[in-house]
Amino acid sequence: MNTYGRYPVRLVRGSGARAWDDTGKEYLDFISGIAVNTLGHAHPALVRAISEQAQTMLHCSNLFHIPAQEKLAEKLTRLAGIERAFFCNSGAEANEAAIKLMRKYWYDQHSPRRTIITATRSFHGRTLNTLTATGQDKVKTGFDPLPPGFIHVPLGNMNALKQAVGDDTAGILLEPVQGEGGVNVVADAYLRGVRKLCNDTGILMVLDEVQTGVGRTGEMFGFEHTGMRPDILTLAKGLGGGVPIGAMLASESVAASFGPGTHGCTFGGNPLSCTAALTVIDVIEQEGLLENARTQGGHLLLGLKAIQRTHPVMQEIRGQGLLIGAELSCDVAETIARCRESGLLLLPAGPKVLRFLPPLNVTSAEIDEALTILGDCLGTDYIGTDGGSS
Ligand SMILES: *Cc1c(COP(=O)(O)O)cnc(C)c1O
Repeated sequence: MNTYGRYPVRLVRGSGARAWDDTGKEYLDFISGIAVNTLGHAHPALVRAISEQAQTMLHCSNLFHIPAQEKLAEKLTRLAGIERAFFCNSGAEANEAAIKLMRKYWYDQHSPRRTIITATRSFHGRTLNTLTATGQDKVKTGFDPLPPGFIHVPLGNMNALKQAVGDDTAGILLEPVQGEGGVNVVADAYLRGVRKLCNDTGILMVLDEVQTGVGRTGEMFGFEHTGMRPDILTLAKGLGGGVPIGAMLASESVAASFGPGTHGCTFGGNPLSCTAALTVIDVIEQEGLLENARTQGGHLLLGLKAIQRTHPVMQEIRGQGLLIGAELSCDVAETIARCRESGLLLLPAGPKVLRFLPPLNVTSAEIDEALTILGDCLGTDYIGTDGGSS
């Protein structure tokens, strides 16, 4: 079905931060399959681990204990400091699980709390609940009747949030950096304020780290920048390094509301996807990729700021780790197309923001190369324009 506005390229092969199309043209891949290819393309350790797992067992279902799933649950819960894990296949599924768990938690306490508060410009997925949770109208049009029980508040405004919290509030669902919504970094102080509000009222704090999780921001989880942790955490995109897997972590007392029969997922946490995720986390640790994400993220930010000085079309530059956005004063589509033709793959975050998502093992030479291509593609004909109609 025609659900995607696709680029006119067929990628067939990749290695690290590079990919090749079916004509043999080489690209520097700063999309990484939308923050999925954490280790770049064809990382040897990931290739080896999933090949060996495929020769052993791909799937057996959650009717059985699954050793790789147990190891992954142990690893993630220890790293996050959140006691329990549930596995699924995607970001939307992880958020659906979080929405169900929030509601069930209050149901079990005979409380009427059902409403979930989310932020404007957020993105939480494409299922009916997660698109309703999403704070952008463009994903909702045509899909009514939408499920009830979601309200939106302007991101970063603590007074608006306090006013929105009522006797029916079950929890607050936020991204620590809004990815799809424009690379909007949420202030640490705001997130700590949300944590305090949740502590004071007893409502649940849920962080959607589907895009920010697994090293993208320079910490294993984005919440680690803030010195507090959520009650529920969702992960997906980068977790399997390209193998589909999602996860929802929850604190012991909240997770207790999911007993046998309350939720499930046939494919969730199968031996293949859990082996992939374990390998991704191992490689992040062994190759120092959190440190690399911070260093190269800083390098990319500085390089973009240097371009900004000679190209007034480039407005605000923002981000965390290797999730970086550069807002242009014009639509980004033409710049993205030019970069692609010149061998650099970038994606938008909304109409005016260029989004950079290189793999966590990107090198500074690759970043320099990307910056050179971008500088050339922004071109002098863009300077001073605001319509981007050059
Ligand atoms: C991509 C994304 C989702 C949806 O994930 P899917 O795997 O496409 O369902 C949810 N939340 C955030 C923050 C995302 O970036």
